[in-house]
Amino acid sequence: MYSIKKEAVLSSLILGVILTADVAQVKLTNSRRTPVVEQAYNYVSHPFLNLEQQLERDFSIIYEGDQKEEVIKALYQNLSEMKSINPALLKHIKKIKVLTPEESVGLEYIGLAHPKGDPVFDSVILRCDYSLSKLAHELAHIEYNYSLASSDLFFQSFFNPPITKGKGWRTTWEDGTRGPKKGYISPNATRNIDENVAQYVELFYYKDDCEFWKGINKEEFDYETPLRYLWASDLITEKQFKEIIDFVRK
Ligand SMILES: [Zn+2]
Repeated sequence: MYSIKKEAVLSSLILGVILTADVAQVKLTNSRRTPVVEQAYNYVSHPFLNLEQQLERDFSIIYEGDQKEEVIKALYQNLSEMKSINPALLKHIKKIKVLTPEESVGLEYIGLAHPKGDPVFDSVILRCDYSLSKLAHELAHIEYNYSLASSDLFFQSFFNPPITKGKGWRTTWEDGTRGPKKGYISPNATRNIDENVAQYVELFYYKDDCEFWKGINKEEFDYETPLRYLWASDLITEKQFKEIIDFVRK
């Protein structure tokens, strides 16, 4: 009798803690429900939606492209991960198309973003072999257009005129060196600030996202100012910003 009572008290205590944690998180993130509670709620309320309808319901994204179930499922999972890391990257995206393997053959790009102003604006096309980091890159192109950084004069003038060689895909600097320089992630990122920003954001979604930062030359590469702007513009999170700053300063 006593132990049953004790168990009941214990389980209601645990439930209380879970609910309190949920309420606390709702307060912090200012969302109605935590993602896990929201997903459970959505599943119970609409168990019969197909995958495309679920994408639209949970991310307000219209899906187009490869109709294979595993492809749409993988996109749903990537978007869920993105939402839990930085929901601000999903603010304006309206449409995503994942190309079939046949359509992806021979394409030079892994992803293509159509930002504000394009006829099919706020949409992204992804080659079939895209990764979470490439998805982040294309979403960053979209969000950059709405961001504080894109209209900030200091941020724009922070980047010196490009000093890369040749046209097209630039792999080296004028002095023949590679790697990050000044505020640019890579020689190719000098094509425009938009591309540079997308390459910064992409870095945070690699399996080992510290790999890049390990080898940088702090004298040649002023990364801190751009990163501060990206954080202020919600293109990266405070957690991502602090982790890298702490890592590089060490
Ligand atoms: Zn790009």
